[in-house]
Amino acid sequence: MIFQDAGFSLPELPAEVEALRAEVRTFVRTEIEAEGFVPACNAWMDGFDPAFSRRLAQRGWVGMTWPRRYGGHERGAFENFVVNEELLAAGAPVAAHWAGVRQTGPLLMRFANDAIKDYFLPRMARAELFFAIGLSEPDAGSDLAQVRTRARAVDGGWVVNGRKIWSSGAHRAHWMMVFCRTGGEAEGDRRGGFSQLIVDLKDPGVTIRPIHMMNGAHHFNETVFDDVFVPSERLIGQPGDAWSQVVSELGYERSGPERFLSVFPLLAALVRLAAARPDERRVVAVGQLTARLWTLRRMSIALLMLLARGQSPEVEAALVKDLGTRFEREAVEIARGLAAHRPGKDTHDFDAQLAKCLLVAPAFTLRGGTNEILRNVVARSLGLR
Ligand SMILES: Cc1cc2nc3c(=O)[nH]c(=O)nc-3n(C[C@H](O)[C@H](O)[C@H](O)COP(=O)(O)OP(=O)(O)OC[C@H]3O[C@@H](n4cnc5c(N)ncnc54)[C@H](O)[C@@H]3O)c2cc1C
Repeated sequence: MIFQDAGFSLPELPAEVEALRAEVRTFVRTEIEAEGFVPACNAWMDGFDPAFSRRLAQRGWVGMTWPRRYGGHERGAFENFVVNEELLAAGAPVAAHWAGVRQTGPLLMRFANDAIKDYFLPRMARAELFFAIGLSEPDAGSDLAQVRTRARAVDGGWVVNGRKIWSSGAHRAHWMMVFCRTGGEAEGDRRGGFSQLIVDLKDPGVTIRPIHMMNGAHHFNETVFDDVFVPSERLIGQPGDAWSQVVSELGYERSGPERFLSVFPLLAALVRLAAARPDERRVVAVGQLTARLWTLRRMSIALLMLLARGQSPEVEAALVKDLGTRFEREAVEIARGLAAHRPGKDTHDFDAQLAKCLLVAPAFTLRGGTNEILRNVVARSLGLR
């Protein structure tokens, strides 16, 4: 079998996490009834609602698996999965804390000094402090070795100059984890000489400009650094060592269930529509989409088991994200084919979800690493590149 080494066993979630699932569902239902949020597709990316994040944090559902000394709750990976899965399925607005908790927290836990961990992690777990991700630049997206933002060593720290792009939520976040060059490339090593610095987005010299999406929404930004001073204690890890740190960060960024659940509120609306007005095409579509979703979910849980065992399942994560994001895009196209008329956001729930999905779906296979790049990862593991 060509994928004999890929770690997809056939897992089930332990029965005891189902009580927690029921608790999250009750919370979500109460929130919706109280108009705490309106379920929306893609809300893990563009539903930035600090108050909602804080309500989750009060229940211990932000930074769930982190150690107590860093404000976490030492819950298991499966419990964390169930909470995330339910929030994604509900289309809850979790964007304020999502990326920071998903990837910056684990990065800090692994590589940051104690003072940084003690300051940032408890505030993140209380959803008081939000991070933006500063990786991509105008000429460096897929190939981060092309990053040109540079930090120069000065007395007591670093001075940063450069430009990041596509920084989701940077206009509302407090800090950015900036991937930059701090040294020359070592001879023949295009991945050497990079570092990660925590930049205060309110510091003088930081300018954040909006980049509007085609639906007029603003969650992207261009972030410019003009002689921004960063004290040395806000360097993460050792200077020049950030390449491997970023590879581990991308593992967290790519492996979660948000890579196939962005469109779940649309699928749920499609099921309601098919139940209310059944016809053969709708029923067949629901059956096919559900089967694919179920397979992806099983793969995602298997991936989680590998992560929980301390492994770095880069190839499995690439496979789930490639299959998951293609599923999301195709689901939107299938739903569009079943729509009775041109969707508008003020009409039926199904139409409103579809209208939003049509506008945001092109991003599904780009963000967090494009599908071509993910397939390169898979191809390399098969010795094909
Ligand atoms: C919704 C969204 C949110 C984002 N949020 C953030 C964020 O918060 N922070 C951040 O830093 N970035 C963010 N990004 C940026 C994202 O990570 C990049 O868009 C992505 O990595 C691709 O980089 P690029 O846009 O520069 O495309 P390019 O790298 O220029 O790629 C262009 C095309 O060429 C293909 N290609 C490139 N290299 C190869 C190769 N070696 N083999 C085969 N094909 C190749 C790509 O697949 C793609 O189709 C976000 C993007 C989106 C869409």
